[in-house]
Amino acid sequence: MSLFAPYTVMIKLTTLNGFVMSITMAVIGVICAMRGVAQARYFMLAWAIFLGGVAVYPLKTIGLLPNVFLTEYSMQIGSALEALLLSFALAHRMKVLEQQNRRIQAEATSQLEQRVQQRTHELDEALCNLSEANNELQRLNVLDGLTGVKNRKYFDEQLALQLKVAGRSRQPLSLLLIDIDHFKAVNDRHGHLAGDACLRAVARAIAESLLRAGDEVARYGGEEFAVLLPQTDAAGAERLGERIRAAVEQLGVLHECTPVPLTASIGVAVVAEPDETGERLIAAADAALYEAKHHGRNQVRIAAALGPQGASSRSQPSSGTTAN
Ligand code: GH3
Ligand code: MG
Ligand code: MG
Repeated sequence: MSLFAPYTVMIKLTTLNGFVMSITMAVIGVICAMRGVAQARYFMLAWAIFLGGVAVYPLKTIGLLPNVFLTEYSMQIGSALEALLLSFALAHRMKVLEQQNRRIQAEATSQLEQRVQQRTHELDEALCNLSEANNELQRLNVLDGLTGVKNRKYFDEQLALQLKVAGRSRQPLSLLLIDIDHFKAVNDRHGHLAGDACLRAVARAIAESLLRAGDEVARYGGEEFAVLLPQTDAAGAERLGERIRAAVEQLGVLHECTPVPLTASIGVAVVAEPDETGERLIAAADAALYEAKHHGRNQVRIAAALGPQGASSRSQPSSGTTAN
């Protein structure tokens, strides 16, 4: 402003400003030092030393203090000490900032680790739920919705697998095709809901007749069921067929207090060749089932041994069957 305003005005303003500012800064310094701000102590000490140096000089000039090196250069010495102390203050401030910085970084890292841990936990939980849902889906995927036994898709896969196992191990594999007799008449007489209840009861009776862990029952279609018996020869399969037949006959399903008589015909086929196919095994069991139907139903029929030419069209009556 001294470029435009008169010097006498400016010098007064500057002096006043210096007065007000130095008092203000001293007051702020004292307040900060009392509040425990470490830098304020450095600041106050530095300025006190400088002002001390400034005060010594006029005392020397008016003769109250001797004119020695220390009093002659008191202002410069005070100024140098002030600069030294302020640089200590600066170093202290840098150290404090660095500590703060390190603390903030440590906190951020710890927070980040916590968040990562939390997210990992949530992800694990989601994966676990997904895997449970997937298992449940896989379980339902192989079940028949109405009867709760295995479905046709599962049976087809299992038949192919068991044929391979039987071929490799040269162990017998038996197949039972079970067809409920006159089931259309059951539906016609009692209604489809009663028919469904009968299907469920028959499925349960078959499942409960199976003795070995590897034996599997599946709903083959409509009112037909298929039972796969690994490591079971014709005699064993026939015994089990008879057991199932008797179990179905004794079911005694009630519909509106009226008993619904049920019987089933069963065709049995046994794998004889190591390279037997599923189609030929099913055709043989189907032919035996047809024979059972043809000879009066409610009985078990065994297909003649499957040969290279396929002897599935011939079948023999099972001993102990009940002709109807
Ligand atoms: P057969 O002794 O010769 O086997 O006579 P059938 O009446 O059992 O045989 P058919 O093949 O003529 O009829 C099968 C019936 O099974 C036809 C259908 O009404 C019934 N059926 C098939 N699937 C279901 C089902 O899911 N629920 C009910 N209630 N009935 C079914
Ligand atoms: Mg049928
Ligand atoms: Mg039938």
